[in-house]
Amino acid sequence: MVDSENRVAVVTGGERGIGRGIVSRLLADGWRVLAAGVDEIAGARLVEEVEGAEFRVCDVASEQAVRELFAKVDRDFGRLDGLALNAGIAAPERKPIESVSFEGWESVLAVNLTGPFLCAKHASALLRRTRGSMVAIASTRALMSEPNTFAYSASKGGLVALAHSLAISLGPEIRVNAVSPGWIETGDYSELRHADHAQHPCGRVGLPTDVAALVAFLLDAQSGFVTGQNFVVDGGMTKKMIYEE
Ligand code: NDP
Repeated sequence: MVDSENRVAVVTGGERGIGRGIVSRLLADGWRVLAAGVDEIAGARLVEEVEGAEFRVCDVASEQAVRELFAKVDRDFGRLDGLALNAGIAAPERKPIESVSFEGWESVLAVNLTGPFLCAKHASALLRRTRGSMVAIASTRALMSEPNTFAYSASKGGLVALAHSLAISLGPEIRVNAVSPGWIETGDYSELRHADHAQHPCGRVGLPTDVAALVAFLLDAQSGFVTGQNFVVDGGMTKKMIYEE
């Protein structure tokens, strides 16, 4: 039986953007939440601005850092019930494939795909104890592409596959799902143009709260019969045909 009173969640990359939205939503739902990320200043700002949020520095691409993170979670909280694998980077710039450096490719894969693998590896013993849940934040770019987005698209496609592989390997104790956002505005929403919103079948660009609501559901025992899936949160964009007339 899940003890919903004292649930603990870790949100990677939780200091800003979608991650911060997930942190806020889980706190509002009564979770104790630790954000883990690389930017100490942004982490301090999160703790100051979001009541109840906690922060620890962790580069998800470093196995040592990830091992230490979950050892600390065990020491400080004694449990882990939810893990949001949100940390991610976009490719520094879009280049034709001939100009993509090996290092550039590797750096995106290291954070977006190896990072979630390392977190799953080092969190699984804790999550097994609570029959917890993981959610990987992938992208609609796992399913469709703009030109010259090789590493990012590949990393997110890999992440969707990693999520179902984890679900099949770690169940029935741990459930694992992916959420694939479309355009989620993390900057100034008021600066978006009418056309930005109107092109979406839902009539608007997405917000971090749109992703956070689904993550909260998937981390909660209410979704106890759901695992190995990828949920698209994109205002309908991936269902829209765009052939020119
Ligand atoms: P942000 O860049 O605002 O947030 C990403 C967070 O991850 C930041 O806090 C960042 O820290 C952190 N991070 C980066 N590298 C590492 C690392 N090595 N270890 C730990 N943390 C790290 O992006 P978004 O909020 O927009 O995106 C969040 C997730 O959602 C990403 O995985 C992204 O790919 C995905 N996504 C976003 C979409 C969108 O439209 N916004 C659409 C589809 C998917 P810092 O900034 O200090 O580097």
